[in-house]
Amino acid sequence: MPDQDNPENLALRRQLDALLAQARLNEEIMRRHQQIDLAFIGASGFRELIESAFDAFVESSELDVVTLALLDPDYAMRRVLIDLDVAFPDYPKLLFLDKPAGFGGLLGNLQKPVLGAWSEPEFGSMFPKPTVTPRSVAILPLRRNGELIGSLNLGSFRPLRYAAGMATDFLEHRASVLALCLENVINRELLKHMGLTDGLTGVSNRRYIERRLVDEVGRACRHGHALSCMYIDIDHFKRINDQIGHQAGDEVLREVAARIKLELRLSDALGRFGGEEFLVLLTGTDQPGASTLAERMRKRISEPLRIDSGKELHVTASIGIATMSRPDPTREIEKLGKELVGAADRALYAAKQAGRDRVVAVRF
Ligand code: GH3
Ligand code: MG
Ligand code: MG
Repeated sequence: MPDQDNPENLALRRQLDALLAQARLNEEIMRRHQQIDLAFIGASGFRELIESAFDAFVESSELDVVTLALLDPDYAMRRVLIDLDVAFPDYPKLLFLDKPAGFGGLLGNLQKPVLGAWSEPEFGSMFPKPTVTPRSVAILPLRRNGELIGSLNLGSFRPLRYAAGMATDFLEHRASVLALCLENVINRELLKHMGLTDGLTGVSNRRYIERRLVDEVGRACRHGHALSCMYIDIDHFKRINDQIGHQAGDEVLREVAARIKLELRLSDALGRFGGEEFLVLLTGTDQPGASTLAERMRKRISEPLRIDSGKELHVTASIGIATMSRPDPTREIEKLGKELVGAADRALYAAKQAGRDRVVAVRF
């Protein structure tokens, strides 16, 4: 029988226990990392990726601050996020760069992760105020198909957490999963955005504005707020097309849409409802308010408009307004919405009948 208490055996057992404990710890670390990957992969949209997956990552990796810098040279990503009502001040850890040369040139040269002690000139722009200042950092390039799309910036209050020369396999794996998920999520958001946007004018399409109509009528009924609906139609557009051609007609449509948009608040909704017809929903706006706004809009549309060929045009539009002043909460929302648009359309017809280039408002 071998002697259980023999000092050699005891030492071996202690070694074995230590190895087992290390294996369990490694397993636990692997499990946590897998969970982060799953949280990244499972995020259904940009918000979720930034809000939950990002926070889970910070927590489980025991980091003190993490920021994400994204290259967005043509502003496309920011435009989509603005349309999704993402308020950038709510995400101070989300940074956008117009050129890879940003961040003092660091990101432009970022081939491999950069690890090291905090240095304000080198890393300050990646952890801008009000973000806390870490004492050591790891800057990980995010690449998709070989192209730099941004960087994931990890910061720790521990001065030696990240130092030059440390192994970065784990960090690089994390960065590649995040880059892949970011690309997926951004593409999905772009698709969603494209499905609700009118390709010619860049304003919302009919599908979006109809959905928004139901939302806004519901909200107005619940809260007892006024809601005004504007139906805008360009005057004699057939004649304009005949005079300058269909393509230049498209230019006019784009310019009129832009002029309408200039008069609106963020909470209002504008959509291209048909060929040369636009629908606007003005939340919390009574009839006098809507009429004043429509009059400003009508004047702005009728200002001289120069098309690409250099030709100057005088385009006008007629506007019909219907206002729900005291929404009836007992009515069926969708029906009420249709009736509101129908009333605005009748007001528009009256404006056309009365000679065009004018605003007619009806109570609804
Ligand atoms: P009214 O003052 O009564 O509104 O006259 P109108 O000529 O504007 O009336 P109508 O609604 O009959 O004509 C709209 C024209 O808009 C017909 C169509 O050829 C044109 N149109 C519709 N969609 C587009 C488009 O995407 N681009 C261009 N260039 N024209 C369009
Ligand atoms: Mg029309
Ligand atoms: Mg018309």
